Amino acid sequence: MPPIVATGSRRAARACRSGLDIVRSVAIETVYPRRCAGCGRRGSWVCPDCRSALTPFQPPWCDGCGVPLDVGPCRCDVAPPTIHGARAVAPFAGWLRSAILDFKYRDERARADHLGDDLAAVVRRIGAVDALVPVPLHPSRERRRGYNQAALLAARVGTLTGSPALDVLRRTKPTVQQVGLVADDRRRNVRDAFSPRAGSSIDGARLVLIDDVMTTGSTAGACADALHAAGATEVWVATLAREL
Ligand SMILES: [Zn+2]
Ligand SMILES: [Zn+2]
Repeated sequence: MPPIVATGSRRAARACRSGLDIVRSVAIETVYPRRCAGCGRRGSWVCPDCRSALTPFQPPWCDGCGVPLDVGPCRCDVAPPTIHGARAVAPFAGWLRSAILDFKYRDERARADHLGDDLAAVVRRIGAVDALVPVPLHPSRERRRGYNQAALLAARVGTLTGSPALDVLRRTKPTVQQVGLVADDRRRNVRDAFSPRAGSSIDGARLVLIDDVMTTGSTAGACADALHAAGATEVWVATLAREL
């Protein structure tokens, strides 16, 4: 078989793309200089020392709540029944906690790439899925923030795993922040807060909800309720961190 030779226009397109990639990375580095979320050292989003200080979750996980058995405590008492399984990269601690807070609240949206890389490894362990579904923000909050961090993560994970990221949920109720609420209040706060977008086709789908942190799972559970109501057969949740 003769070697495949790039045509002139393809070569030009590729050179243009790599030029744009360089411009993009220089622009990101200028606006959002890479800085370790753990110790603040410049040059990387997380330095090797800080990364090695946080132990990632490892199997086996509890079948009910998804808490790693060697970490505990089991959260099956509050785990929403409509979630098939939950997986996370690591505990909500150390560099990961700081990185998530900077990613969400300090406009460090360029962190979506390195955080998404870690999350993709977790999603791959779930196995074949039909699509990734980011947990939506209420439109008013997304307008204030300028982006939905879960959607940025889902897009990155989708690129790496080949599963499409589908924006099939909308948040119809402007809920208060879950931080500081106990389990019952969290459930009440997000009850009926989500609904499927009109025209969403997820009948019979095996889905993975994507979010940054999971605590009791009440937000993910409310999303899973809406996805099941729209026909999904299995809903997993994958988050960067798990607060235990
Ligand atoms: Zn560091
Ligand atoms: Zn459990």
